[in-house]
Amino acid sequence: MALAGSGYAECLLLERKSLPRTKACGSGLSPWTLTYLDRLGVGAEVRKRAFRIDGAIIAGVDGAGVELRGDHETAILLRSEFDELLAREAERRGARLQEGCTVRRIESRNGQVAVETNNGTFEADVVVDCTGATGGFDRERRHTDSSAGGTTLHTIMAWYEGMEGCSDVVELFFDRELKPHYGWVFPETSRRVNVGLCFLPGPQQPNAREHFQGFLERRLQHRLRRADQLGKWIGHPVNVSAMPRKLAAPGVLRAGEAGWLADFATAEGIYHALVSGHLAGTHLAELAAGDWRNDLDGTRYQAKVAKALGPRMLGGRVLMSALKSPALDLALRLRSLRATREVLKRAFSGLYHG
Ligand SMILES: Cc1cc2nc3c(=O)[nH]c(=O)nc-3n(C[C@H](O)[C@H](O)[C@H](O)COP(=O)(O)OP(=O)(O)OC[C@H]3O[C@@H](n4cnc5c(N)ncnc54)[C@H](O)[C@@H]3O)c2cc1C
Repeated sequence: MALAGSGYAECLLLERKSLPRTKACGSGLSPWTLTYLDRLGVGAEVRKRAFRIDGAIIAGVDGAGVELRGDHETAILLRSEFDELLAREAERRGARLQEGCTVRRIESRNGQVAVETNNGTFEADVVVDCTGATGGFDRERRHTDSSAGGTTLHTIMAWYEGMEGCSDVVELFFDRELKPHYGWVFPETSRRVNVGLCFLPGPQQPNAREHFQGFLERRLQHRLRRADQLGKWIGHPVNVSAMPRKLAAPGVLRAGEAGWLADFATAEGIYHALVSGHLAGTHLAELAAGDWRNDLDGTRYQAKVAKALGPRMLGGRVLMSALKSPALDLALRLRSLRATREVLKRAFSGLYHG
């Protein structure tokens, strides 16, 4: 959207699927995501289609949940709808979108990038890799050294219609089996919810399906009695890290989860993808208007992303350390205290309207 709308460059969007495409996601849009969407000029349209969230229930290991309400704005919009809205808006601003076009390889030679796809090879000045956690064509981008600090969380989720006890709040369950990560129930409409969990896989741990089965039995069996499951359970990795790093290679800028930019604790990644994608677009437009040689190695792009997302991502790391400790369960036990509720609200303010 940013690059196409600048008028300084031709912009080609390659997407391997046909839109609208399914994406495993809680589809939660935090307050800062909605504000950023306003900045991109699509906030009103997103709010019109989204389901408004007015609070959150946070539950710890002993089952007791605390309901938090406040005055921030949060919403859920099914990713297939949200992503198509953004892609169509980019088209409206001048981008050319090719669906069903899978990038297989990219190669930088003599200041140009050759992009090999199932529909032929394209030549570009620069490629923005925003292929998410599973793009797979750019092996270079993988965080292979431990100093890079990236981790891949596993998730599994499903959609249900007619689950009992759902309203305008999201529910987070920090169960012993998942800590420091969690299971969730996110309402998408007055009838439909998405239910899922994320966890850090380890040796001798249950796999994703076993985790999900256990979570449904522990927490939701009773409420799902009369519900219809829509489609199958689906799993997907999430690439998280505590600091933007390795966001550039010759001729390539990485945005979103291709750059390992999701939050360590919450796995929130839509905001990070929007901000880094937008910065890549505005940065390239600036270079196109001036001189390409101003940022040949992508250092300036990386610095911009670090400035915009670094403190928030570090905060995710800190929150995760707190979630590993007994602090959350203690706070939930003291939930009647006003000060405790304030701390909980601050810690989870991205996930709900509070
Ligand atoms: C189960 C789950 C729940 C989540 N819940 C939330 C939430 O509630 N809120 C939140 O903020 N974040 C959430 N996240 C994280 C969020 O989904 C991601 O961080 C975000 O989608 C990353 O955006 P992206 O644009 O980098 O990648 P993606 O959204 O994965 O998009 C990548 C796109 O690239 C395409 N593509 C991939 N490879 C190629 C190729 N070789 N050629 C052409 N096209 C290709 C894909 O088809 C896809 O359309 C969740 C993640 C998971 C897995």
